[in-house]
Amino acid sequence: MKRIVLASGNPGKLREIGKLLTGLDYEVLPQSEFDVSEVEETGLSFVENAIIKARHAAEVTGLPALSDDSGIEIDALNGAPGIYSARYAGPDCNDQDNNDKLLTELKHVPDTQRSARYQCVIVYMRHAADPMPLICTGSWEGRILHAPRGEHGFGYDPLFYVPTHDCASAELPPEVKNQISHRAQALRKLVESLSQ
Ligand code: IMP
Repeated sequence: MKRIVLASGNPGKLREIGKLLTGLDYEVLPQSEFDVSEVEETGLSFVENAIIKARHAAEVTGLPALSDDSGIEIDALNGAPGIYSARYAGPDCNDQDNNDKLLTELKHVPDTQRSARYQCVIVYMRHAADPMPLICTGSWEGRILHAPRGEHGFGYDPLFYVPTHDCASAELPPEVKNQISHRAQALRKLVESLSQ
């Protein structure tokens, strides 16, 4: 079994990634097992931030590292909140604050101009100085609703309308979201590359 450290403290991500790598020769370990500290995400793109996190985890543990970075891009806001999605409404905000702020910003924007997409980048680095990190991306197209709907998911899911399923992403059963989401798409590409 090849050991990989996951540069995230999110147990949901660990479960999801661990499940998708089943059958391959990889054991995914959370960075918390190695006391890896949080690193400042100083990049200006999802790719840069994912690399910063993976490099840091690889440096501290001496193991190959995986990281993911994601967010939502809204066309009417010139791509905001983008890499700042988690803290859109301020440093100590929660999902509700972010969603409230988004609805306020888009108050006068009509349906035809509310296009948006979730973006996800997953990076695999063989070692901290890896000059050619493996970069896998996923993108999920939708539109921002005028009011929240649904109870599943997290973050912007109550406001993210999924045209292919005619509902908010928070109304999708988790097993459906985990098949089609930006993260699922990026993870599938990662599995494909790692199994080659
Ligand atoms: P991170 O990749 O865990 O840092 O997530 C960045 C932020 O983007 C999250 O805190 C959410 O606000 C948003 N986000 C990323 N993926 C999703 C998703 O699948 N559903 C809802 N919000 C998401």
